Amino acid sequence: MSVVSRFAPSPTGYLHVGGARTALYAWLVARAAGGKFVLRIEDTDRERSTQAAIDAIFEGMKWLGLDWDEEPVYQTQRFDRYAGFITQLLDEDKAYKCYCSAERLDAMREEQMAAGQKARYDGKCRHLTPEQHAEKEGQPFVIRFRNPQEGTVVFDDHVRGRIEIANSELDDLIIARTDGTPTYNFCVVIDDWDMGITHVVRGEDHINNTPRQINILRALNAPLPEYAHVAMILGDDGKKLSKRHGAVSVTEYRDNGYLPEAVLNYLVRLGWSHGDQEVFSRDEMIQLFKLSDINKAASAFNTEKLNWLNQHYMKTLPAEQVAAELAWHFEQLGVMTEDGPALVDVVKLQAERVKTLKEMAEISRYFYAPVTEFDPAAAKKHLRPVAKDVLQDIQQRLAAISDWSSDAIQGAIQATCEALSVGMGKVGMPLRVAVTGGGNSPALDATLALIPQATVVARIELARDFIKAREEQS
Ligand code: GLU
Repeated sequence: MSVVSRFAPSPTGYLHVGGARTALYAWLVARAAGGKFVLRIEDTDRERSTQAAIDAIFEGMKWLGLDWDEEPVYQTQRFDRYAGFITQLLDEDKAYKCYCSAERLDAMREEQMAAGQKARYDGKCRHLTPEQHAEKEGQPFVIRFRNPQEGTVVFDDHVRGRIEIANSELDDLIIARTDGTPTYNFCVVIDDWDMGITHVVRGEDHINNTPRQINILRALNAPLPEYAHVAMILGDDGKKLSKRHGAVSVTEYRDNGYLPEAVLNYLVRLGWSHGDQEVFSRDEMIQLFKLSDINKAASAFNTEKLNWLNQHYMKTLPAEQVAAELAWHFEQLGVMTEDGPALVDVVKLQAERVKTLKEMAEISRYFYAPVTEFDPAAAKKHLRPVAKDVLQDIQQRLAAISDWSSDAIQGAIQATCEALSVGMGKVGMPLRVAVTGGGNSPALDATLALIPQATVVARIELARDFIKAREEQS
């Protein structure tokens, strides 16, 4: 049997971390088995489902590299299909029309709750005769699934182990509302069957739906998929992860400068482990992932670990891959990178120095955009009158270099130190502030080598003017 797994988001918002992790696990199940991974958009709640949310889900999935096979399935395009099966179940007497009014159901629920019982439908319409049905003709009705009353539903959840629910615990589920629209649990059953789903991986909030769905699948003589219900994700305070804890949407992590490899690696470990290994490439995940290794307990989000992974991947992934993401961040800043050093060179120079790509883009502006102002603290400290001679000397030496390279630049800096009998810092710091605008940059020779010689010389001129203007003011 070839494996088919699915991710079935309800498009009512962005793709959040929990959803992305569920999608990742489902994707891994399929990829590990050489099977198929399909997407189903559960958009039947028309009030809350939006195209923007659908787009955001696709965007998040693509960014993470969770590719899906086949065109996504939309539940709203399948109402005829659901209606066909509802009619079939009615014809086979596996479902029935229920005319109970909302008032009756409410009163019943209140009574049951007051008596400390579980609220459930009492089955009043379950046994109506054809004559009684005929009498009700024209009255509004819902359609209920005739749930078996005897026996138990048993399934072996890959995460939670054996789960057993007595049918006496389950009431007759509404499968079609008064307006004829099918309900959630019914749609899922028909979809999973039609799509040939062999593995249902989803949040544990659906665990109570599973026995009901199994009963409907059985009534339709449909094969049963395997199930894996994944525990919640908690914030670092132990409460369910939410907006309060910071970024929860996947694209927000992209915006904040994380690499998809880091987020994916972080997500896979958030509730799954393989020994004490922390770093997993995409291929390793596919090779090593097993549903039975998913933790039963909820996992807590840990931003420090994500940061650590992000740094790890910035340093170890091929620079081209990191550069492609970095390009996106420069675009967000409105900095054009066509003219200037290759982004891979910037990645190699800066990867050790930052936690995120957003930071990397922010501190690397000077490679692509003019330095329009100096960091005030750095200027105050290093662009002082004593730096005037140093800057003049190094400017001349740099301007005279015929092969613009880090070695030649380093030679020029040393020559200035010797000529003026000053230490490296006395030359390096003013030069750094002049060319990069601030007091922090990677090694000067390597940094300057990535900037055109004429630009470097011109920036030193501006810094000299700055010192002069300052002198005149005081
Ligand atoms: N649409 C459901 C959700 O977003 C998932 C249902 C399922 O996976 O069966 O929670």
